[in-house]
Amino acid sequence: MARILDGNRIRDQIKSECVPRVETFVKRTGRAPGLAVVLVGDNPASQVYVRGKTKTAGELGIYNETITPASGISGDELKSLIRSLNHREEIDGILVQLPLPKHLDEQQILLEVAPEKDADGFHPCNAGLVSTGLPGLRPCTPAGVIEMLDRYEIPIAKANAVVVGRSNIVGKPMAMLLLQRNATVTVCHSQTRDLAGVCRSADILVAAIGRAAMITADYIKPGAVVVDVGMNSVTQRGEAERIFDASRLEAFDRRGSLLVGDVHPGDMARTASAYTPVPGGVGPLTIALLMRNTIEAAERRAGL
Ligand code: NAP
Repeated sequence: MARILDGNRIRDQIKSECVPRVETFVKRTGRAPGLAVVLVGDNPASQVYVRGKTKTAGELGIYNETITPASGISGDELKSLIRSLNHREEIDGILVQLPLPKHLDEQQILLEVAPEKDADGFHPCNAGLVSTGLPGLRPCTPAGVIEMLDRYEIPIAKANAVVVGRSNIVGKPMAMLLLQRNATVTVCHSQTRDLAGVCRSADILVAAIGRAAMITADYIKPGAVVVDVGMNSVTQRGEAERIFDASRLEAFDRRGSLLVGDVHPGDMARTASAYTPVPGGVGPLTIALLMRNTIEAAERRAGL
């Protein structure tokens, strides 16, 4: 039986470790760590994500505010808003919720966030710190994956790790963090030849693709550890039949859609030695790591 790597359990551990850090910070500085979330426009999915983030911040005693510019805000106006947050003493972490409306250049906007307040760890300065192994704010999702592997005592050093996906926010930093921990890392993408064969060489396989259940049994070495970062909504019944067993199909029929990762859930459970389910695997860790980054940013800024 494959071990299920329970993201909710690890999230709760990380959250409970945050509580005394916030308390100590408050005692020593007379204020709470502060997180500002910038949510441009009215994308319903983004609104849900932001509510989740601010709710968790509130539970942990992190001061938080959400700034909600209209979707028509210009790039210059948004940059100037971010600069004003950079200058506010009581704000330690700034998060610009993605995706931004199409007329805004995400890379340029994210460059505006002060690296020491970059709670998401997306700024090129923080990406550089990850690559060089220097302390800095780590991107939350890949950092969450490392936490998950560590807390389940899955050895990373000497493992062959394959990361499918090379985005700046997941795939690349994931590869860097695994490399830093002495895994032998291969990064795959849409141009990789014999993707299944490369994936089958992995002791640790991380899928961060954005394609529903694309990774099937023939991509997974029996006994591998599989980390499924993907979050995809399945809405077509034909696709649901390929992916889900009878009980999940019932749920699909009731709801009209279901969340699935990048790895086929049944194949993963049958072939891997341990795996992260979707939902309940990597997803919950991202918010927990965002909270930890905010606290870390606050501590560094206060010289603690
Ligand atoms: P992204 O920016 O779209 O990157 C996807 C990557 O997958 C790209 O590098 C792309 O290759 C590669 N890819 C696409 N199709 C492929 C194929 N057929 N074969 C091999 N590689 C392929 O996505 P992302 O932001 O990294 O997110 C990836 C997934 O993780 C999404 O499902 C997203 O929703 C999820 N996610 C989850 C969390 C969480 O908290 N759990 C956080 C962030 C993201 P190219 O570079 O060649 O195009």
